[in-house]
Amino acid sequence: MATSLLNQPISTWLRKKAHWTFPGFFSWKLQIPPKLKYFFWLVCHGKLLTNVERVKRRFAANYYCPVCHDQPETILHMLRDCPAARMIWNSVICLDSISRSMQLDWYGWFFANSQCKKLCYGNLQWCSIFVYTCWHIWKWRNKKVFDVGFHYPFNPGKVVIDSAREWKSANTLKPHQSSKTSVRLFWKKPPMHYFKLNVDGARSINGKIGAGGVLRDSTGAWVSGFYANLGCGSVLQAEAWGLLLGLQMAISHHAHHLLVESDSQVLVSLVQHNVDDMHPLKTITDCCQTLQRQLHSCDLKHVYREVNQVADILSKFGLDAEIGVHFMEQPPPQVNSSLLDDLCGSPRIRTINSEL
Ligand SMILES: [Zn+2]
Repeated sequence: MATSLLNQPISTWLRKKAHWTFPGFFSWKLQIPPKLKYFFWLVCHGKLLTNVERVKRRFAANYYCPVCHDQPETILHMLRDCPAARMIWNSVICLDSISRSMQLDWYGWFFANSQCKKLCYGNLQWCSIFVYTCWHIWKWRNKKVFDVGFHYPFNPGKVVIDSAREWKSANTLKPHQSSKTSVRLFWKKPPMHYFKLNVDGARSINGKIGAGGVLRDSTGAWVSGFYANLGCGSVLQAEAWGLLLGLQMAISHHAHHLLVESDSQVLVSLVQHNVDDMHPLKTITDCCQTLQRQLHSCDLKHVYREVNQVADILSKFGLDAEIGVHFMEQPPPQVNSSLLDDLCGSPRIRTINSEL
């Protein structure tokens, strides 16, 4: 396996450069989402868990790339030299100077890209696109490993550039530009001694319904989660079962002070106000109220789906799962990105017509 510079964290090399102050000099100054800054901090410190890093830490025995199975998976291989990464770069790169940097070593490549402030694709700086591209390569590599049915996008460059554009435009919008405006929504950790339960329901086009939920503590850490295949039904039934199962899970984990969030305004309204005896969801909303009364405090509120992403993903798991409820004491890898967004307070953008 190639050693030397390729396996040396870039921060080690940077410390030798008196005029650089790491880690604040590069990614922290870019206009990119916090999770991308954190991701690149890991890259720069050689802490990204590629297979070479996992073998070093004795988490794995095989250091080969899980995508091409042809080379040891160093950070440089994963981000640039793997055929999958090359395919993505070929779809993104629009500058000759950057094309030529693909021949350089790790540091040469890194600095050619991170220092390039040329504007591309309208008004995006190349150094920002560079980080977005690395992030997507890592994200898709993980999907390839964990999702059996995952295929790389047909036009990966478009996905990368669209995500960079969307974030930039949402974060540079001026108020009153039009009748529509964008708001930044955040998932918030519950206060000290409180827990937060996010629940959701999903329905497929063939009528199957699923539910999911996640319980987190006041540090934002995962306590428990679930997904459920509920057979066939309406989306409101799915939402209601999501709440019921979530409350049962919270009680079993002694979450006596609970904040509950659902993105179904109808469900929240049904549970908060006593529904008509003839309502088809009367039994289940009554059960939810009974469970709420078992807690010392339980505040149920409606949130927009942008800040209910983890529960949304879990509810969709339910659609393809075995019939019944499946509890998880550890988060599945597919929700890691959304959990990190929540934890970092990454803003989710929602376009609205008037005030919230
Ligand atoms: Zn590879």
